[in-house]
Amino acid sequence: MKRNQFLKIISSTITLVGLSGLYQFASGLGKQNQKMPILFIGHGSPMNAIEQNKFSSTWQELGKSLPVPNAILCISAHWLTKGTFVTAMKHPKTIHDFYGFPKELFEVNYPAPGDPVLAQHITQTISNHLLKPDHEWGLDHGCWSVIKQMYPEANIPVLQLSLDYNQSGTWHLELGSQLASLREKGVLIIGSGNMVHNLREMSWDTPNSRFDWAEESNSLFKKLIKQEEFQVLADYKSLGHAVQLAVPTPDHYFPMLYILGLKEKQETLRFFNDETQFGSISMTSFIIHQ
Ligand code: ZN
Repeated sequence: MKRNQFLKIISSTITLVGLSGLYQFASGLGKQNQKMPILFIGHGSPMNAIEQNKFSSTWQELGKSLPVPNAILCISAHWLTKGTFVTAMKHPKTIHDFYGFPKELFEVNYPAPGDPVLAQHITQTISNHLLKPDHEWGLDHGCWSVIKQMYPEANIPVLQLSLDYNQSGTWHLELGSQLASLREKGVLIIGSGNMVHNLREMSWDTPNSRFDWAEESNSLFKKLIKQEEFQVLADYKSLGHAVQLAVPTPDHYFPMLYILGLKEKQETLRFFNDETQFGSISMTSFIIHQ
């Protein structure tokens, strides 16, 4: 990625940081005993997995600048279950859970290993045995499209945590907070979704358009995040008509609540990739770190 492109991306964030900010950040996090940062990533189109664009470039930059994690736990918008599961297999398969995309995307294989020992630790110690091991799923595109760009060598174990689709926003926010101890074990927790995500309203012909309700919702979400009004965000159904259009179903919204649930008071939050695609999908992402 060219430097000027990167600066353009960074300059669109709410909390302005220059390119040097990421590098300072990386050196600061290299110290032992520091908690891993946490990420909410707007993943958007599956094509971001194989395209070189401003979003994937930022993911690549993150992969290079963050401390190398011992493992990754991804909460993806695309694994909806009754109950909550953690992938526990040694070799999670690459799931191509989409239609109508080029053959090249279906040929992607991301052979990152799993980590059955970590999965057992999570299921036995987090949230009073609420979480169950899973041996069937694998890595869906909400997970691998981002992580493939961050860690192309596929040499870091990746686990997924499913979304119990019967539960409320408050419940997901609370479960997120219970994952906190994993950060001290070098686990990079990533929520992968889109805070504004309405496929029915997408404007395919004008990828750079931005609907008023999408813009209004994106701004409101960022404002509430900055004000740490996480409980208000969890109760998203009460946030009015624009948000009802922005979150017609909560699958892409819930992953964000896990990351907000993990934020500690003194930690820093920075937005990046703060752009809308096809009018109705916000790529707005954030990182939280000490
Ligand atoms: Zn998605």
